[in-house]
Amino acid sequence: MKLDVDVLRYLSKDDFRVLTAVEMGMRNHEIVPAELVDRIASLKHGGTYKVLKNLLRHKLLHHDSSKYDGFRLTYLGYDFLAIKTLVKRGVFMAVGRQLGVGKESDIFEVACEDGTVLAMKLHRLGRTSFRAVKSKRDYLRHRSSYNWLYLSRLAALKEFAFMKALEEHGFPVPSAVDCNRHCVIMSLVQGYPLVQVKELQNPETVFNTILGIVVRLAEHGLIHCDFNEFNIMIDDDEKITMIDFPQMVSVSHQNAQMYFDRDVECIFKFFRKRFNMSFQENTDDADGSDIEADESNRPTFSSISKASGFLDKELAASGFTRKDQDDIEKFIGDVTGKVIGSDDEGTDDGNDTGSDDEGADNEHDSESKEADDIGVGSLRLVDKDESTLKCNEEDEKVQIQQNCEIGQESGLQTQEESVEEEDNDTLNEHDAELTKRIEKQRRRAVAAARGGRKSLSSRNSYKDKGGKSSHNSKIQKQLSNW
Ligand code: ADP
Ligand code: MG
Repeated sequence: MKLDVDVLRYLSKDDFRVLTAVEMGMRNHEIVPAELVDRIASLKHGGTYKVLKNLLRHKLLHHDSSKYDGFRLTYLGYDFLAIKTLVKRGVFMAVGRQLGVGKESDIFEVACEDGTVLAMKLHRLGRTSFRAVKSKRDYLRHRSSYNWLYLSRLAALKEFAFMKALEEHGFPVPSAVDCNRHCVIMSLVQGYPLVQVKELQNPETVFNTILGIVVRLAEHGLIHCDFNEFNIMIDDDEKITMIDFPQMVSVSHQNAQMYFDRDVECIFKFFRKRFNMSFQENTDDADGSDIEADESNRPTFSSISKASGFLDKELAASGFTRKDQDDIEKFIGDVTGKVIGSDDEGTDDGNDTGSDDEGADNEHDSESKEADDIGVGSLRLVDKDESTLKCNEEDEKVQIQQNCEIGQESGLQTQEESVEEEDNDTLNEHDAELTKRIEKQRRRAVAAARGGRKSLSSRNSYKDKGGKSSHNSKIQKQLSNW
């Protein structure tokens, strides 16, 4: 392992305290006012601004002075918070080379103290095709409570929960190790994505195994929804491992049959093209009414006896709630008309691996730029304090939490709609009088922020371009600095 997370210490305790303060502020601020960061972090007089400058320099924060002087986390900042937490938990100690760039994630090797190598997936929601991002952005305008960091965290939590449940049910998936924020740690899969394989010793066996997985998933009440050669790993013994679960849905989903048929079709299509397999197909495959007579052996949705409640019962145990599921499904389903996983976009042309990857890379550049233009918005982490607090020293936990509460009550919130949408949970807990008081304080604070003196950092025009390639090289650079 050439990278050592030990060097995370090149960021001081104060750096992380301020970074955490921005994260906390993002619970209900798209851009966290500088004064609020200062108040939450509660560093010695003037200290926060110096630290903010340092964090900006390392591109861990983005400075925005369009409405008022404020900050938001960049994906890199979010990465650092997650990595630091996981390192502190002892999950791993070093970050290594990049294993893959998914459409909506970056995957790295990480090493544990005993030398075990695991895979770390950092979710990057919003990094889909340019058009999808645009429509998502339109969607986000209507629902300001959704944002990229929040969705990335949800995607990670969902992936972790599904991976764990699937593993427990004997599915060939990576072993889920841990999860924090937008980051999932799992076992490293030996082998390569099926898309890279030109030849198989036993194509029929592999095909049947893969199809068998789709059927067994449905029997357990689930559809992968992005089941294709990019998300199926295969090793030298032709052993299959299925990966990439954030888009999975229940068989009770309104479009379940369509998703199921699409997953099945992807497999048929790929094996037909790549391995010249021919299938005696029933042309009427979309209609599962005459399953018994389907001589093609193509599994049909209606022929499978499906379990129900798998999602609810098993996933809740990993902290992934029905509400989380609804949230992420709403976003994923409504926006693109298809499910989030867009790996299959590259499968139609029958291109081989290399070109797919290059295409994806170029695409990511503009995508990330676009996602960055959107801004990452507030995090809505209200009910998930634990992840935030774990990265602070024990004695700081209480302090920073208290400061945060103070900050929230007198917060410099400027987006009235988002207060209503995002803070419902919090505000419901307060009585009407308190709500009124907060509202009054808020208005006063907004006025103060607008008329107030600009901080030192606002005079510098920091710009975080956030393009994928720059981001990746940056994380690599940062990591190798550790
Ligand atoms: P995305 O959701 O962005 O498509 P994936 O989970 O499909 O991300 O991962 C992208 C790529 O990273 C995969 O095609 C694979 O090459 C690699 N990868 C993902 N998970 C693992 C793992 N556990 N072990 C080894 N490689 C992995
Ligand atoms: Mg994938």
